[in-house]
Amino acid sequence: ERVGFAIVGLGRLALEEILPAFGESKKARPVALVSGSPEKMKVAAAQYGIDPASCYDYAGFDRIRDNPAVKAVYVVLPNGMHREYVERAARAGKHVLCEKPMATGSADAQAMVDACAAAGVKLMVAYRIQYEAYNLRLASFVRQQTFGRLVGMSAINVQTVAENGAQQWRHKRALSGGGSLPDIGLYCLNTARFLTGEEPVEIFASQYSPPNDPRYAEVEETVSFTLRFPSNLLVNCFTSYGARDDKHQRLNFEQATVDMPNAYLYRGQRMTVIQRQGNATGQTELVLQQPNQFAEELDHLAECVIGNQRPRTPGEEGVQDHKLMEAIYRAAESGQTVRLPSVEKPDAFR
Ligand code: NAD
Repeated sequence: ERVGFAIVGLGRLALEEILPAFGESKKARPVALVSGSPEKMKVAAAQYGIDPASCYDYAGFDRIRDNPAVKAVYVVLPNGMHREYVERAARAGKHVLCEKPMATGSADAQAMVDACAAAGVKLMVAYRIQYEAYNLRLASFVRQQTFGRLVGMSAINVQTVAENGAQQWRHKRALSGGGSLPDIGLYCLNTARFLTGEEPVEIFASQYSPPNDPRYAEVEETVSFTLRFPSNLLVNCFTSYGARDDKHQRLNFEQATVDMPNAYLYRGQRMTVIQRQGNATGQTELVLQQPNQFAEELDHLAECVIGNQRPRTPGEEGVQDHKLMEAIYRAAESGQTVRLPSVEKPDAFR
């Protein structure tokens, strides 16, 4: 029996990636929809075979408590709405998958963790890269020291936004919590933590927004930040809404460079290992099976629900990323290196 999901919010990600991904999932199925638009919901319900009686508007969402087919709720709303819908889902007794960034700040994120714990439901943050085949292989290279010590890493996540994009929720602080950093720079931060299993102990950062551009009246355009990890790994991250699309990740190991030109895309990752081969430099392109990362993510929560296990990317991971993003902004504002207490991670998180 597959685990039934309710999808809350029928925006781009929900309609273009998540609902289609159920077709490749083995353990999850969509059984309910929540939207403010009856027309959109009608079309999606018909397309995915969802009972019209399991379609809710936002005001009626709490009635989901009485729908036994719904075991988990996937919140795919603007960031500033995540807390409310995660808490309402928890109160309805449903497990929760929440889109990234988890919230608009660490206090809200912690409140969401507490609410789910109090309700006895699981809370997972949708860090899809942690379920993506190439990045998973990369994590094994780092942790097993396949190419020796990881000395440096650079991570870029840049996405061009429309010139008239100022009205989009991503440019309103109350709904977004920030600009490029929480939206896409988060991939650089979360992936570096995932690959190493370590927590940064030092952060240096700088940010810029073009003046007089309405898109950047409330949120930032560009952030550059450097993380130092306890192993002395140095990670350089760059995120922006202002330049050409780029999602490049490069890892400098003692004995190899591993290059991923489109590390954070929804699909189509590639990985090249550059190494000395005899007296020459050789390049090997690794080709892996690549299941749909959204389907893998849905199946992970479904498996956790079936087997009563803790998700690999629980709410606490989201809280930690928010604390670190707050430290990045502090570093950028002060121009000073922010030092963080070293955190011993339990084995389960390494
Ligand atoms: P979107 O703007 O396309 O969709 C947002 C949905 O929320 C829309 O259907 C909109 O109608 C609805 N909504 C309800 N109340 C709203 C309000 N007050 N203001 C604006 N919209 C409102 O956004 P999206 O790109 O689908 O992003 C949704 C969430 O998913 C965000 O948290 C985002 O960060 C996350 N996301 C994650 C990924 C990923 O790869 N994991 C990719 C894109 C977006």
